[in-house]
Amino acid sequence: MDWADNLNMRTQPPLHLTLLAPLWDWVAPPLCAGCSEPLPRSRDVFCSGCAVTLERLTGPACPVCGAPGWRDPCHHCRRAPPRFHRARSAYLWGGELARALRRCKYGGQLDLASSLGELLAPALQRAAAGSEVVVPVPLSAAGMRRRGFNQVQELLRGARRVGASLPPVWATVLTKPLDRPAQASLSPSARRRLPASVFTVRRPARIRGRAVLLVDDVMTTGATVRAGAAALVRAGAARVEVLTLARAGS
Ligand SMILES: [Zn+2]
Ligand SMILES: [Zn+2]
Repeated sequence: MDWADNLNMRTQPPLHLTLLAPLWDWVAPPLCAGCSEPLPRSRDVFCSGCAVTLERLTGPACPVCGAPGWRDPCHHCRRAPPRFHRARSAYLWGGELARALRRCKYGGQLDLASSLGELLAPALQRAAAGSEVVVPVPLSAAGMRRRGFNQVQELLRGARRVGASLPPVWATVLTKPLDRPAQASLSPSARRRLPASVFTVRRPARIRGRAVLLVDDVMTTGATVRAGAAALVRAGAARVEVLTLARAGS
């Protein structure tokens, strides 16, 4: 069971903590994920001033990769069709959402990932409806040691915390054996050439024939989720859908 995910073992907070939540909010009010000011409503993630910088992706998009502004497959998907069936993202990358994600990943603010997971919850629940298993994009072992947590797993935890009902989350089925150079330092064309071998699937028999939802925090060129989906399909996944919290414009 070493591949099984500890997310599935998590339970709801104890009842006495749930009952004390309003009191706790009064003692230590939740803070905006953008400006860190106390939130007037504890159920919000961003204050109204920061929330206006978030852009939900609801308009026309490439039917394959979700690139905004397209109605037919975009030129990237036409030139090199990805192995995933479809990718969707909840928000456009930018504004306070991008700042919060950067602070979470590079500033070690683990709690922010869980808050941002609340934003992902509705899209996650919709995307997971046709999937048998949810697979977060992994960090390499070295990346995990540096950061101390995988922000995608924390997003999923945050979504669960606000009631997103998900199929089993398998956090260790997809692995990233090598610590590649930070992708942020590569040019877009170099990033698009990322080989599928960046990822490997542990125990491919577990994934064979399954409908998988692959989740990541941000999609920029799409190289990471393309490589992840390719590894899953090579391992025998019947179908891979992709969901990210944010994505860059086309
Ligand atoms: Zn704010
Ligand atoms: Zn596309």
